[in-house]
Amino acid sequence: MTSPLQQASNGDAGQDKYVGTFDVLIIGAGVTGLYALYRLREMGFSVQSFEDGSGVGGTWYWNRYPGARFDSESYTYGYSFSEELLQEWDWKELYSGQPENERYLNYVADKFNLRPLIQMNSRIASATYDEHELSWQIETVDGRRARGRFLITAVGLLSAHYVPDFEGLDSYQGRWCHTGRWPKEGMDLAGKRVGVIGTGATAVQLITEIAREVGHLTVFQRTANYCAPLRNREIDDDMQAEIKASYPEIFQKCLETPGSFMHKFDTRSALEVSSEERLEQYERLWQEPGFKKWLSNFYDVMMPGDVNEDYAEFVRNKIRERVHDPVVAEMLVPKDHMFGSKRLPCESGYYEVYNQDNVLLVDVRSAPIKRITPTGLMLENGNEYELDVIIFATGYDAVTGSLNRIDIRGEGGKLLKDKFANGPRTYMGIQSAGFPNLFTVNAASVGNFVRAAEPLVDWVSECIRYVHDNEYATIAPTLEAEDEWVRHVNEDGANLLRSKANSWFVGANIPGKARALLTSPDTAPVMRAKRAEVASNGYQGFELR
Ligand code: NAP
Repeated sequence: MTSPLQQASNGDAGQDKYVGTFDVLIIGAGVTGLYALYRLREMGFSVQSFEDGSGVGGTWYWNRYPGARFDSESYTYGYSFSEELLQEWDWKELYSGQPENERYLNYVADKFNLRPLIQMNSRIASATYDEHELSWQIETVDGRRARGRFLITAVGLLSAHYVPDFEGLDSYQGRWCHTGRWPKEGMDLAGKRVGVIGTGATAVQLITEIAREVGHLTVFQRTANYCAPLRNREIDDDMQAEIKASYPEIFQKCLETPGSFMHKFDTRSALEVSSEERLEQYERLWQEPGFKKWLSNFYDVMMPGDVNEDYAEFVRNKIRERVHDPVVAEMLVPKDHMFGSKRLPCESGYYEVYNQDNVLLVDVRSAPIKRITPTGLMLENGNEYELDVIIFATGYDAVTGSLNRIDIRGEGGKLLKDKFANGPRTYMGIQSAGFPNLFTVNAASVGNFVRAAEPLVDWVSECIRYVHDNEYATIAPTLEAEDEWVRHVNEDGANLLRSKANSWFVGANIPGKARALLTSPDTAPVMRAKRAEVASNGYQGFELR
């Protein structure tokens, strides 16, 4: 395909640090960015990706903390676009760990020769829309620049890691890190006094793993979580063969479910069956691996109300059974939010860690962390903890955080960050009025990640082809379509279980961040149908110039 921008002479070309002019620029070479690179290159576009890390993989590049692994079944997570890839790759475990996941994404990058299209170690500082050239100019923190007619932010949903602004961190003489920036060379924790701040899905994986080697572990918990057994195991040869023979059915199943997982809700209400039958189902699913416990359960387990509370109590009792000290057990039992209102952390021996003599659970809800000291940390009640290492498992400034860390300016020099100050203002998460040809794919994808990302990238790629083939210069949503979408997210999203807790889903984990649902309130099948309808109606709701 001839690229109009490549043909155009450009004043930037030839200057130092000028990378080039492309049809499409992609920020990020994680799961979404890699597939977008592949797809758009196959369509004949010139594409270039800029990746902050020194390698590909995004989430699976950065999150190399001990214990990091999938919570979706490995064989539902891989790309589906290449039958050859599906048949070549052997997932070793039901829920594969970070090293294997990173290896997989490297394998994909090599197999499809994507590396030449990626500039590694390239953190993007700014992205500016040029209203004369009708293109985007991006600049890395070290001053390299590139131009592209289209810009895709494949910067991740959970990639802007959040370290609370604790006083005194500069004075700390031990070693500290955030789980999302775990050093490549690893951390020597053997025999050390280690503190972990946070008890979310990340901390639950990490704590279980490091409790085996540390000298002493102190866990600072603000909110207890509902956690469920992962029940991971190796995939044997028979299962491997079965998986490889049934990928079409596996992916079809994922396509049909709300979050693109292969688990379907029971269409019965828990209230339709006897209490014995209800408990039998709870117990049976509890023995199953992964997310089945909540995503294959009675449909009303995942709706606010009495059934949700009934199941929450079932899970609380499971926690109580596993922790020897009843005081510690009660600290670990969540009581302030509904089951399923936060993403369910899956664990492999998490609660038993608190039965170890060298592990201490500290409640930082009643006495918050006041400051980091040179030798550890201090709570507001004056209690001090001496620590050789502090690990922040304190989460992410989700969805908008990774966009806001880039100075993104659209028409009239308007900052995307300002526009998103009260929550994302987009149409279907994909585009924002006043920011033509910018595709914020990281704000449009949720659920079983690759299953959601692939159809989204397909839609965006087809949209770019449509704009190009029909000789339009730009595409951006109309303000009316955007307003209606924002209304839908805020009003219809307010009824969802995941809007009810103070979590990253609604930006409530970041002090000062406006509370707003950061993802679509629609299920994956509804979202795909909406996008398909918009496209088949000539990109209804978008303005093509
Ligand atoms: P998170 O769920 O936001 O948890 C952050 C933790 O840090 C919470 O316990 C939070 O307490 C605590 N925290 C934050 N600021 C604090 C402060 N100032 N003082 C004390 N505690 C503080 O983050 P995450 O665990 O990294 O997980 C984020 C998401 O990543 C998950 O929901 C999931 O979607 C994804 N994830 C997936 C997997 C997987 O298996 N594939 C693994 C890990 C993560 P509060 O709850 O009180 O705010």
